[in-house]
Amino acid sequence: MSKKLAIHGGEPIRTEPYPTWPMAGAREEELLLEVIRSRQWGGYNQFVGKFEKLFAEMHDCRHAVTCVNGDTAIEIALHAAGIGRGDEVIVPAHSFIATSSAVSRVGAIPVFVDIDRDTYNISPDRILEAAGERTKAVIVVHFGGIMAEMDRIQQVAAQKDLVVVEDAAHAHGAEWHGKRAGSIGLVGTFSFQNTKVMTAGEGGIITTNEHDIAARARSYGNCGRRQGAGWFDHFILASNYRMTGFQAAVLTAQLEKLPEQVRLRRHNAGLLMKSVRTPGIRFQTAPAGANVQSFYIVTCAIEEKEFGVGRDEFIEAMKAEGIPCAPFYEKPLYKNPMYDNLAHRVEPCPVAEEACGHSFWLPLATLMGGEEDVLDIMRAIEKIHAAYKPIERSAGLAVN
Ligand SMILES: *Cc1c(COP(=O)(O)O)cnc(C)c1O
Repeated sequence: MSKKLAIHGGEPIRTEPYPTWPMAGAREEELLLEVIRSRQWGGYNQFVGKFEKLFAEMHDCRHAVTCVNGDTAIEIALHAAGIGRGDEVIVPAHSFIATSSAVSRVGAIPVFVDIDRDTYNISPDRILEAAGERTKAVIVVHFGGIMAEMDRIQQVAAQKDLVVVEDAAHAHGAEWHGKRAGSIGLVGTFSFQNTKVMTAGEGGIITTNEHDIAARARSYGNCGRRQGAGWFDHFILASNYRMTGFQAAVLTAQLEKLPEQVRLRRHNAGLLMKSVRTPGIRFQTAPAGANVQSFYIVTCAIEEKEFGVGRDEFIEAMKAEGIPCAPFYEKPLYKNPMYDNLAHRVEPCPVAEEACGHSFWLPLATLMGGEEDVLDIMRAIEKIHAAYKPIERSAGLAVN
């Protein structure tokens, strides 16, 4: 007795939209007004330095350096870590393009390695296999806000003498054994782009415990200047990547909300994972050390044979039921046209390629409401499964 799916003209599970993202209120407005009235709107507004301190503290780091976006943050981090021409940098085969394009922009060579099937994060074993003579660094992405296996990765990095860069664009507030994302590798990077868990529309930040790394990062993003030297003394080829006071003001307000929002998403994601028992649906799993996830997105795999319908039809059916839902990255990074003429080796990454075909994600807004909003996701998944479930299964049930 399956109910008619909304995609086939039936009643949808819900018509009410999920909360919109980003979320802002009186606090953002109040702080923005302060910046407008200050007459110092650029990177030397007091909010910028204050926000850097607050963010560093919240992420268990001694230093934080703001910049224009998360993509540039990776470039700055690599530069600060001394990565450059001819060096190889290991990156996960699937991520946003910034993870690998930043490598190329400092003159280094991205080496794509496969992910783990269950955690969707870079596989420590594959890092070990891929690290060669010229490999100087590995960029780890904490996908969806679930930390990568940092103990093993740190071990492999030490063995192969690699710098660890954490691309924590999804992972503000996430933890590994009680330590925040961005504080474990030599350097961490975050994005404040419009969809991220804290945002000023655009923006980025670099975190580190090393004074020298922070100083190099600051110089690279501030026209090659050095602390203590003159305004018109430029020591390295660099650029102006400074964050504005407006961004820092909005981010100060966003940071105040982050802990409560992470708590809410953890609660709601926990409820979702507990209540979805449908065969053929598998959530991204967190390794044992990942004790806090930020839940930037909820990533799932769908097994067509068990569930009854494939990923693309499933997503359309979910959207018709009123649940926002999107496909995973379409292809691994190395299949982008920009890499068509790469001079160096690209080993295929079968796990990442498979994930691209059968995974999807729920955006963070779906976790920003109440429990009933979360249970609607479960109800939609069950309804779709009931409508499509494999023949053998329904035949079996009919006999009982
Ligand atoms: C968003 C994102 C970035 C880059 O952020 P921008 O601020 O948009 O430049 C980098 N890495 C990952 C994994 C991201 O999702």
